[in-house]
Amino acid sequence: MPRSSPPPSSAEPSPTPAPVIVWFRDDLRLADNPALSHAVASGRPVLCLFVHDPQQAFARALGGAVRWWLDGGLRALHADLARVGAGLHVACGDAATLVPRLVAQAGAAEIVWNRRYDPAGRETDTAIKAAVKEAGVAAHSFAAGVLHEPWTVRTRTGDAFRVYTAWWRAARAMGDPLPPLPAPAHVPPAARPAAWAEPCVGIDALGLRPVAPDWAGGLRAAWRPGEEAARERLRDFVVGGLAGYADARDRPDLPATSRLSPDLRFGHVSPRQVWHEAVMAVRGTAGQGAGEKDLEKFLSELGWRDFAVSLLYAQPELVSANFRTEFDAMPWRDDARDLRAWQQGRTGYPIVDAGMRQLWQTGWMHNRVRMIVASFLTKHLLMDWRVGEAWFRDTLVDADIASNVANWQWVAGCGVDAAPYFRVFNPVLQAQKFDPDGAYVRRWVPELARLPTSCVHAPWTCDPAIRGRVAYPAPIVDLQGGRARALAAWKGLSGA
Ligand SMILES: Cc1cc2nc3c(=O)[nH]c(=O)nc-3n(C[C@H](O)[C@H](O)[C@H](O)COP(=O)(O)OP(=O)(O)OC[C@H]3O[C@@H](n4cnc5c(N)ncnc54)[C@H](O)[C@@H]3O)c2cc1C
Repeated sequence: MPRSSPPPSSAEPSPTPAPVIVWFRDDLRLADNPALSHAVASGRPVLCLFVHDPQQAFARALGGAVRWWLDGGLRALHADLARVGAGLHVACGDAATLVPRLVAQAGAAEIVWNRRYDPAGRETDTAIKAAVKEAGVAAHSFAAGVLHEPWTVRTRTGDAFRVYTAWWRAARAMGDPLPPLPAPAHVPPAARPAAWAEPCVGIDALGLRPVAPDWAGGLRAAWRPGEEAARERLRDFVVGGLAGYADARDRPDLPATSRLSPDLRFGHVSPRQVWHEAVMAVRGTAGQGAGEKDLEKFLSELGWRDFAVSLLYAQPELVSANFRTEFDAMPWRDDARDLRAWQQGRTGYPIVDAGMRQLWQTGWMHNRVRMIVASFLTKHLLMDWRVGEAWFRDTLVDADIASNVANWQWVAGCGVDAAPYFRVFNPVLQAQKFDPDGAYVRRWVPELARLPTSCVHAPWTCDPAIRGRVAYPAPIVDLQGGRARALAAWKGLSGA
């Protein structure tokens, strides 16, 4: 050995191990995140990645309210990850081509993610897994977004369920879902790969917040996106709201439901966490009076979310196609003025208008009212459910492809296990039953605030002297006439 060569040294630093990439999608949390936990357990440095692929998540453009929430959710995740050692790298582009490139540029040993089940997401993930593996990099995915993955709850003959009660019975027989994983106390960070500079644009540059005009004031006042806020919402609900849930969940005038839907949509909290927290609250000491009836009802509502996922998994075409094909011949009306009145909450039916204004101002609407406004659109106004679904997709902070489509088809009568089309909600009777004092209507339609309860849900029945002082539109459709028109159209379908 020449004298000039350095002597071999046992103290030479060993090379930094190749990183593992955690690809966050609709699982913006640290706790009960199997992909993140796997990465930390690998002992490798971790790169946390989010790819904004505007066309992907919905197989169409993301809605405005979802974009607003995503902005806050990413900021919260970045802060939470930074607290435990690693920040969030954000890139923008077509995930199918971008992710394999980022993996190669990082020299990663492995990429991990939690599975998604929508048709476009699955297609992308399958392609990425294949591309990455072909390049010699490990790729692993985990179950985290549902209680039971769609292929695990099946009929005896191995088919997908079409009826919710049967699906729920089978799912319940599988026992409690796995207990949630704790959040990692430390995430060892990997240095950001130099080549990531170009596609990694940062959260600001995604331009998710509305600027001109900034219409998100009502959303900001109503919500704080992120894992911490979601955990607080969950805790508050199981301690204070779960008691009485079974009886009060249909009352939009009461704070009787969890309001966790946007948190579940973005994965700030997992359905397993929600499940176990609710179970513990009732069987432990925190539930303050909630009993098995409240618990079972709440768990079964959570089940609807899984059921919607499994329907779309079994039949991806339901995103836009009627499950009951006889509805393809439905003579839907195309009336821009009626549609605008519905969207703006100016139909002249207070409960419909209250719901649509709550949606516009806060990005959320109570479930019972969603059913009423959807029935009103598809039956009294005889408009295609896809028009309503698109409006909800743009305005709901919890807009989720599976839940939105399944529920719209259900209300419209053309879906799996749907309410029959001839069951037409009367918005006045529904309002009198579920908003008995008119408090919900008065809150969201303030021009009706002074009407007596006896006529607040049907202002045209008020004393003319009182009604004359209120600037509120006359009904855009006659309830009986609209109902008769809808039933005639439905009866004209072959197979109806
Ligand atoms: C026409 C229409 C469209 C809808 N679109 C969506 C949507 O895009 N995204 C969405 O998350 N929900 C949607 N829903 C379902 C439901 O209205 C909301 O999930 C619910 O109002 C959320 O309020 P919460 O969190 O207080 O519910 P809770 O009563 O506290 O229920 C707990 C959780 O169970 C799930 N859940 C409850 N009911 C349903 C249901 N019918 N279908 C699926 N999951 C349910 C939600 O994740 C909810 O957060 C829609 C319902 C209708 C009628």
